[in-house]
Amino acid sequence: MKKTILSTVVAGALLFSGQAMASGDVHWSYSGHGGPAHWGDLSSEFSTCKSGVNQSPINLTGFIEGDLPAIGFSYGTTATDIVNNGHTVQANFAKGSSISVDGMEFDLLQCHFHAPSENNIDSKSFPMEGHCVHASKDGKLAVVAVMFDIGDASKGIASLWANMPEHTGDKHTLSAKVKATDLLPESKDYYRFNGSLTTPPCTEGVRWFMLKDSVTISKEQLNAFQGALHEPNNRPVQPVNARIVVQ
Ligand SMILES: [Zn+2]
Repeated sequence: MKKTILSTVVAGALLFSGQAMASGDVHWSYSGHGGPAHWGDLSSEFSTCKSGVNQSPINLTGFIEGDLPAIGFSYGTTATDIVNNGHTVQANFAKGSSISVDGMEFDLLQCHFHAPSENNIDSKSFPMEGHCVHASKDGKLAVVAVMFDIGDASKGIASLWANMPEHTGDKHTLSAKVKATDLLPESKDYYRFNGSLTTPPCTEGVRWFMLKDSVTISKEQLNAFQGALHEPNNRPVQPVNARIVVQ
């Protein structure tokens, strides 16, 4: 039983990273018949996409003061390769990077990107959003999210995009050493809320940490990302329902 639960969670994590399709080759996308409005009907395993009440992304607003403790970042390792899975472009990290929160360790798996942003902050959408996905030993997920605005180029993004996988299925080894911290702002102050995977199977119980400060990328860097995907890859914001966003 324990193995089954863990397998399901791991399959969810892999699906989130787009590397595997645990429920067969169910095609989903960001528009048309496979688009977000239909995800919950594409497969019984995607039913949470329509029945869930704690879905991501959301519009973060109505913040509750919570005196949040700092997240313990331990990002020692660098990204090994970068993949275009048709849904996003994703940098996979070598084992050994983690965050510490709620008295638990969450290992960094990968960072991937959405354009435009999926979450909104006070109804503001951003040109791009990064999601660094972490998993605890027992399969709980935590996402550190960062907003990207247009401005000066990001050195971290430049190092990733230098090996941009231009087409679906492409996987390139990274030539530069990029740590996840190279993708994040100096200040790690954050908003916190409960949510889900923003892609099928939309599994809930994900801890979300949205960094308050954004990072800049150049218009060219945004164009390069958009050029590697077929379409905008943002799920629309979902109802907040009973949740609160703590700051
Ligand atoms: Zn994401």
